[in-house]
Amino acid sequence: MAQPQDQTSSSLGHAAAIVGQAWIALPHEHRLLLQEVGASQWTVVEELLGTTIHKLLRSAGGTGLSFQARRDADRAIAVWLPTLRVVVLNTRHPTLAGLSAGAYAQALARTAWHEWGHALSMVRCTRDDVREGRRLLELSPTAVDNVVRGAGYRPHEYTHELVANIYAALVERKQHNGSGRPQWLHHEIYELVVRVTGWKD
Ligand SMILES: [Zn+2]
Repeated sequence: MAQPQDQTSSSLGHAAAIVGQAWIALPHEHRLLLQEVGASQWTVVEELLGTTIHKLLRSAGGTGLSFQARRDADRAIAVWLPTLRVVVLNTRHPTLAGLSAGAYAQALARTAWHEWGHALSMVRCTRDDVREGRRLLELSPTAVDNVVRGAGYRPHEYTHELVANIYAALVERKQHNGSGRPQWLHHEIYELVVRVTGWKD
């Protein structure tokens, strides 16, 4: 019995360390902003997020998630819970399975950056930004467009998904010393991400 438990706690510890590194990789001002909006804490788990989140909300005195919301959350790698001011990540999500150690770390870090970008977007996008989602998605790189549409998001979620995806890509690019607007990114989207997230490079 001891063996699997040890493995679990060490793999969770490893995952938590990766997310911690991803946090440190963010620009200082972004970490301040994320603290302000209640997205600076995180927890890593090794189970479907629907159940985890349901339990977290219940133990905080809330009503928990509906059956449908639980099923939606089960499909997610990570979810930001504004009411509990925490980002929850499922480190055993199928999209992370079978990756090499390096690819796993990169994918988990990208997931954390995505959630933090998402949190900034939810708090700081205007209604007009949200309304423009469909048009903005059409201006976005094909890969992002495919990911967002392929995942079945609804049009009112497009802008947030777009900002989260581009934010994660910009943080990742900064790790390799990239700066300025990437050639592949439409200036309107770059300006949106700059305004919403406070991106400075
Ligand atoms: Zn997202």
